Amino acid sequence: VQDCIFCSILAGSAPASFVYRDELVSAFLDIRPVTPGDLLVIPNEHVVSMRDVPEPAASRIFHVGRRLARVLSQGAVVRLEGVSFVVADGEAAGQDVFHAHLHVTPRFDGDGYHVEAAAWAQPPPSRAELDRIAAGLRGTL
Ligand SMILES: [Zn+2]
Repeated sequence: VQDCIFCSILAGSAPASFVYRDELVSAFLDIRPVTPGDLLVIPNEHVVSMRDVPEPAASRIFHVGRRLARVLSQGAVVRLEGVSFVVADGEAAGQDVFHAHLHVTPRFDGDGYHVEAAAWAQPPPSRAELDRIAAGLRGTL
């Protein structure tokens, strides 16, 4: 898709430091890393929302992300004590590039990474409210 930086990278018309590529997904280093080694895993097909990425590409994204996190965990390349697997799906969720992507971000004590947690500042819902939402979801699965 024109004007999509990730499609340009996949087409070879924009630079990227690739770490993985197969027929469904690709992974490369984020040019604005949260921490060193911050990776992006994306479907090769242009799809805006992770909710709409077809199988098996959607599963492959997480499969590859987990594999890369295990490799990063070996600690030879970057500092890593934990990993954040993050998908911002939609503008309201903070999605900045509108080609679905999984962030695989190495984490360590004092890395300065902050996750917004506005919901946790709200009072906890009642069990009845949780049950109402769960029932609605089960009913539409
Ligand atoms: Zn794209």
